[in-house]
Amino acid sequence: MRHSIVAGNWKMHKNAHETEDLLNDLIEKLPSDKEVEIIVAPTFVNLSSAVQHLEFTNIGVAAQNMHQAESGAFTGEISADMLKNIGVDIVILGHSERRSYFHETDALLANKVDTALKHELRVIFCFGEELKDRQNQQHFNIVENQLKDGLFHLDAKAWENIVLAYEPVWAIGTGETATPDQAQEMHQFIRQTVEDKYGREVAENVSILYGGSVKPDNAKEIFSKPDVDGGLIGGAALKADDFAAIVNAV
Ligand code: 13P
Repeated sequence: MRHSIVAGNWKMHKNAHETEDLLNDLIEKLPSDKEVEIIVAPTFVNLSSAVQHLEFTNIGVAAQNMHQAESGAFTGEISADMLKNIGVDIVILGHSERRSYFHETDALLANKVDTALKHELRVIFCFGEELKDRQNQQHFNIVENQLKDGLFHLDAKAWENIVLAYEPVWAIGTGETATPDQAQEMHQFIRQTVEDKYGREVAENVSILYGGSVKPDNAKEIFSKPDVDGGLIGGAALKADDFAAIVNAV
């Protein structure tokens, strides 16, 4: 069901002690009475402790990635079963840093999505255009293809466990945010693209998050747009005060 979500992608930040400190800070500062789903995504090595630490809170835990295979000779990789087994129910897939630095293609991501859903993980599926795509007026095409190639093989029922995260690459970690109107324009296009394929019910029920330099001072305006259902936060998720302010902006 479509609802507001604010998720913090911690990327490769925070060791075990720092993770514990930040989680304690978040427990203290995050609102517990707001109608918003709150998620944090620490690194793999700290997921298990985060799940335990947050057990009696309203904060969920997501992994930042996952391998597509069930198990096997894939040195250094983590499977869906391993995540489920420690109590993780959500996985972020398709982040632009995975796509560009680790060469994750739409076809590979479609595979990962299937494996995640098979193991009853919810998927936060990331996509978004690069600066050159926007300059060349290709941003709608790029986003449409990422959606089609990564997700449109799914049946309508599977979409109950999909959250979309539009993250224009040029806005990630750059301090440059899409304007609220640019975000709304793209989110509306995304919802329409989903509707064209699956019909109105699926499109109206999917939560679409915006990510890219969301900060306490711009969150409210971005989140106020009708097709923006919350945010996927990078840098500002590493400070409890900032993250709490962003959650409160919903
Ligand atoms: P920033 O908020 O640091 O721009 O990162 C966004 C992001 O990549 C979240 O996944």
